[in-house]
Amino acid sequence: MKKRILLLATGGTIASQPTEEGLAPGLDGAALASLLPESVLARYEVTVRDILRLDSSNIQPEEWQLIARRVFEAREDYDGIVITHGTDTMAYTASILSVMVRGIPIPVVLTGAQLPIEHPLSDGEENLRLALAMAESGVGGVFVAFDRKVILGTRAVKTRTTGFDAFESVNWPYVAQVSGNGLNLNDGALPARSESPCVLRDALSPRVFLMKLTPGVDPELFDMLLQMHYRGIVIEAFGAGGLHFVRRDLVAKLQAAAQAGVSVVVCSQCLYEPSNFSVYEVGRRALEQGVIQGLDMTTEAAVTKLMWALGQTEDPAEVRRYFQRCLAGEVALS
Ligand code: ASP
Repeated sequence: MKKRILLLATGGTIASQPTEEGLAPGLDGAALASLLPESVLARYEVTVRDILRLDSSNIQPEEWQLIARRVFEAREDYDGIVITHGTDTMAYTASILSVMVRGIPIPVVLTGAQLPIEHPLSDGEENLRLALAMAESGVGGVFVAFDRKVILGTRAVKTRTTGFDAFESVNWPYVAQVSGNGLNLNDGALPARSESPCVLRDALSPRVFLMKLTPGVDPELFDMLLQMHYRGIVIEAFGAGGLHFVRRDLVAKLQAAAQAGVSVVVCSQCLYEPSNFSVYEVGRRALEQGVIQGLDMTTEAAVTKLMWALGQTEDPAEVRRYFQRCLAGEVALS
C-alpha cells in the first residue's frame, strides 16, 4: 500500500519566484509537488495543504503554533508529514515543533532549498524527494532533510548562506544519509520512541532574548531587558563557559535577573561541543547565580526550549526542571 504523506507548504526559497521586490514565495504546495517526477509521485499518496506563504524570516511564534496544530491534527491520518519551509529559520521551527508535538508517532520532515525549485539548478526537487523518503520511514519525530542528510530537529543549525550543504547536525550524528544503498538510517541517532501518547503543547512565551557576549559588553543591557519584561535570556558566552566580571560585572546582573524571576540559560558561542560553566572561575561565578547550563544544546534549541518552558509554567524552578530533562534529543545529560 502506498504511504499517505501530507505536504504542508509554508513558503521559503523553494517556493519562491522573482518579483520586482526580490525573490518571494509564489508557488503553492500543489505547484511544488507537480514539479516532482511522475515516478516519485507514483510511490506515495500525497495530500497537499497550504498553510502559509512566507519567507521564513517572517515565521515567528504564532506561525510555529499554527504549524504545530496542523501537524498534531494530521498525526493519525497520515504515515508522514513533509513541511516545505524557508531555510533561514527552519532550525528554530524544527526545534520548537520537536517539543510542541513531542512523542509524535510519525515522521515530520522539514525541507526547503537554496535555489527556487523552478531554477534549472535548484536543489529543491532533490531535497523534497529526500523529505518524502524520510516521511515514509515510519520513524516518529521531527527532522530536517537537506542535501542528502537527515538531521534530528533539535540538532539542526543553518551554517551556510548559499551552499547546498546548508545544514549541519550539531553535537549529534546524522539521523540518516543517502548513499548507493538508498536512505541509511543511523539507529543510534534516532530519537527514543515515546511511551506516552503525543499531546499538543503549543503554549510558549516569546519574551526570550538571545544575547551574544562581546568583550566589554555593557551589563546595563540586563536592566533594559528586565524593564522590557523579558522572562528568559539565553546568553551565548565565551568558549567552554565564561563571562566577564572585572570592571563590567555581568555576574551581578545575573543575580538581579534571578531575583526578578527571569530564567537565564548559558550556552557557548562555539558551535561544536558542550559548554561547561563549572570549569573556570568566570563560569562558576555565573553558576552561583543560578543560571541554567545549556550544555551541548544548539542556540536554536536553547532559545525555543526556553520559550516553550516559559509557556508551560510561571515558576522558574519548574523551568529549570525542564532543562534537567532531555525532551526531544536536544541535550546530552551526563
Ligand atoms: N529567505 C528564505 C527563507 O528562509 C531563504 C530560504 O528559504 O532558503 O524563506
